[in-house]
Amino acid sequence: RAKEQGKNRYQLFDLLHDREMQERAAQQQALALALEREEFVLYYQPKVDLLDGTVIGVEALIRWQHPQRGLLAPNAFLQYLQGNVLDRAIGEWVISAALRQQSAWRAQGLRLISSVNISPEHLLREDFAARLRLTLQAQPDVPADCLELEILESAALSDVAQAARTLAECHQLGVQLSLDDFGTGYSSLLYFRSLPIDTLKIDQSFIRNMIMEPNDQLIVEGVVRLADTFSRQVIAEGVETLAHGALLLKLGCRLCQGYGIARPMPAAALPGWIAQWQQQEHWLALGTADAG
Ligand code: C2E
Ligand code: MG
Ligand code: MG
Ligand code: MG
Repeated sequence: RAKEQGKNRYQLFDLLHDREMQERAAQQQALALALEREEFVLYYQPKVDLLDGTVIGVEALIRWQHPQRGLLAPNAFLQYLQGNVLDRAIGEWVISAALRQQSAWRAQGLRLISSVNISPEHLLREDFAARLRLTLQAQPDVPADCLELEILESAALSDVAQAARTLAECHQLGVQLSLDDFGTGYSSLLYFRSLPIDTLKIDQSFIRNMIMEPNDQLIVEGVVRLADTFSRQVIAEGVETLAHGALLLKLGCRLCQGYGIARPMPAAALPGWIAQWQQQEHWLALGTADAG
């Protein structure tokens, strides 16, 4: 009897497992079609220097303009790319699209660094840097150092040797490297020291609670000091209020990104936003107040 029940349970498990696999396969098919039909778009979220008010760059964030379901955020579909060849195809589309946009902005006289998010699996492919070089060559008016790759600590840690090789190759190409969601992974400091990472991007969870949580503030301070010690840049994400900005400046972090400054927006909205930003007295006053 117990055996019988056990068997039923396994059958149920198999059934659920099959369903899940079918669901994944269907989603992957839909994503392949979406890529073909050019339904992906990049939204751009500005990064600013609060000390002098300059807009230093933008982070490209993928969206799926779904014909029925509307504009979808990455958490609605990115997980289906894991373990699939589409992961690289969509990843490369993101890099090319960001470079094309960067080229259009340069033609309008805008000088920005464009950051793109790279999935761990994509980054760890052996030919990642070689293919990136070709992608950069296809957009010769955009200098490599205007492109920044945002990578996750987890990517670097899952295959340390391969990650170190790829990051060194990317660094040689001249692109900038940033560790995204910094503080949520488990990088050893020794390991971090040996990688050509230009920027630490403090995870938004620490910024969100920084004002109420003394420990989170200490973490932010710690990361700022770490970056300083190793001559790396530091940027905060998830800056939602003026108070966040003021505290970050006080803690020595002048580069910021977050809803309080701007939400991610379509490329066409960026020039208008920049003009508006230059009138944001409360934000711009933070830098001068801090200096005085
Ligand atoms: P991320 O790279 O850490 O990007 C930051 C996410 O936080 C974005 O969500 C952004 O819209 C959101 N955000 C920015 N400022 C604030 C804020 O002040 N408050 C709050 N609550 N949220 C803020 P999004 O666009 O939904 O992207 C989520 C994640 O999806 C990204 O996290 C990144 O890991 C991934 N992602 C986005 N685009 C791509 C892509 O093209 N390729 C890959 N591989 N991953 C991507
Ligand atoms: Mg990012
Ligand atoms: Mg992040
Ligand atoms: Mg994140």
